[in-house]
Amino acid sequence: MALSRNAFIKLTALSPLAMTGAFNVLQKLTDELTATEMMPALFLGHGNPMNTIEDNEFVQGFKQIATTYQKPTAILCISAHWYTKGTMVTVMEQPQTIHDFYGFPDELAQFQYPAKGNPSLAKETADLLSPVEVISNEDWGLDHGAWSVLTHIAPQADIPVIQMSIDYQQPASYHFALAKKLQTLRSKGVLIVGSGNIIHNLGLVDFQNIDKVDYGYDWALEAHTKLHQLILDGDYNSLIDYQKLGKAVQLAIPTPDHYLPFIYTLGLKSEKEKITLFNDKLLAGSLSMTSVKIG
Ligand code: ZN
Repeated sequence: MALSRNAFIKLTALSPLAMTGAFNVLQKLTDELTATEMMPALFLGHGNPMNTIEDNEFVQGFKQIATTYQKPTAILCISAHWYTKGTMVTVMEQPQTIHDFYGFPDELAQFQYPAKGNPSLAKETADLLSPVEVISNEDWGLDHGAWSVLTHIAPQADIPVIQMSIDYQQPASYHFALAKKLQTLRSKGVLIVGSGNIIHNLGLVDFQNIDKVDYGYDWALEAHTKLHQLILDGDYNSLIDYQKLGKAVQLAIPTPDHYLPFIYTLGLKSEKEKITLFNDKLLAGSLSMTSVKIG
């Protein structure tokens, strides 16, 4: 189904209540998170929210990747759609499904992803990020950047999920470094998922051809080729400094929100780990669905 021109994603609203609280769910850490095999880290290009309820090659790509690793004990999701002042983590026992868009069919507006939260993982995440002050959040939940992909990689919603927000005041290098501090969670069964889109220029999307795959404007093709090569070359400094990669990349990444979740995933890669690209296609002129598996 085509995304109509007047379907929009709401901008993240900051809750003053959420902004003021320091991390106050300081229950003692339990042994709940035990050592397991190293989990992969994923970046999932989420694209159109309709992917939640449709079937297409990208949805199949998400489902397929989920067959390549053991079942996680928990999921930590960094979504492009939770873009805040400061870094927050969700601490509620039962996160709500947030419908942070309008203009979509009822089936999507009613969609529920009832995974539980995981306050102890939220606490451990905050501890790992110290001395960065992580704000405990009780009123967000799961936004569509999270649930539109989680429903395909964890369709039973039986794995607890927390979300971590992206501090919009900070540059890509900061987010890359922050991700490194979360590395140890991967050895405790936690699947860390960045959800965004590497090439994402919503203002230039060809809405008449919203579902047209392998279709990118010249600048999108150029940016795609350039970014793809930098990923495969392991040139992460250039990917962090993406604003210096020329006009095509600037058009591909007009704002950092959908790109930074990818930087988190890159930051989680240790030197010897493999990086695999999938769903690596352009769409609708100005989007890419490129997704990444680390490990
Ligand atoms: Zn999005």
